[in-house]
Amino acid sequence: MASHIFGPVPSRRLGRSLGVDLVPFKTCSYDCIYCQLGRTTNKTIERKEWVPLEEVLGELRAALCRKPDYITLSGSGEPTLYSRVGELIDQIKTMTQVPVAVLTNGSLLWQPEVRAELMHADLVIPSLDAGDEAVFRAVNRPHPEISFERMMEGLIQFRAEFQGQYWLEVFLLAGHNVADADIEKLAGQVRRINPDRVQLNTVTRPPAEEFAVMVRQQRLYELAALFTPRAEVIADFRGVHQRPEFAAGRESILGLLQRRPCSIDDIASGLGIHRNEAVKYIEELSAEGVIEHTVTAGKLHYKAIDRSGASHHSEP
Ligand code: SF4
Repeated sequence: MASHIFGPVPSRRLGRSLGVDLVPFKTCSYDCIYCQLGRTTNKTIERKEWVPLEEVLGELRAALCRKPDYITLSGSGEPTLYSRVGELIDQIKTMTQVPVAVLTNGSLLWQPEVRAELMHADLVIPSLDAGDEAVFRAVNRPHPEISFERMMEGLIQFRAEFQGQYWLEVFLLAGHNVADADIEKLAGQVRRINPDRVQLNTVTRPPAEEFAVMVRQQRLYELAALFTPRAEVIADFRGVHQRPEFAAGRESILGLLQRRPCSIDDIASGLGIHRNEAVKYIEELSAEGVIEHTVTAGKLHYKAIDRSGASHHSEP
């Protein structure tokens, strides 16, 4: 099993997305309350070669035969913390025509070298979930050296310099950033950035914190109209991963969770799959209401629901 490459996994935005994981699990400059991977265990802004570049390139070369639609730098933490991300993108460009996407929290784009390193990507999708410092601190729980204005400057400056597609993902949470005043500020900040697209997301898989609560689908569509450009709703309310190529993995995970409660790590090591792939299956099974989760000391465990009992996951 390749340890830095996963998929292709089906992505609503990117088709068959081959994931590249560049930092250790939950190494991130943020600790978002909605993070599907649990709480951040290494909150840092240190950029380094967390995994050997040659190793990543070797695995990627071998994985290209899987014919992805995108090569996506994302994974278990923040990809711009990888100090050789620019070299990696340039090397990928010598290997294949497959476009490169970067999913980033955007927190380090105020650093000129980080912006320069992403210049050759085809698509960059940064995040913005707050219109001011207070909401930023409450929702993203950033590293102390990242202020809201500094982060915003990075998003704006990168927009001015980057020639590729720039999509902005906005994660909305009931009770945190969807009050009228909060949305007004958020939409104002989005206008300052002026991305090619704005994409709204919300909690559809188990979050790091129980108090990170989903915004209902209907409300998201109403809020979409308040953004410029008008936002798209990308929240995955439908269990879109019910595709034949996923059936085997889905059944194996369900079988495992019927036997005992497991964390994402337990599932990944138990079945020999990447954590991010395990997360995709968990998302689908949670949406279907056939599994449930518990949080113990900040760590999520999942178990199959006894079908004779009621699930507390009743959302669509
Ligand atoms: S959601 Fe992304 S940016 Fe936020 S803590 Fe998780 S990995 Fe980091």
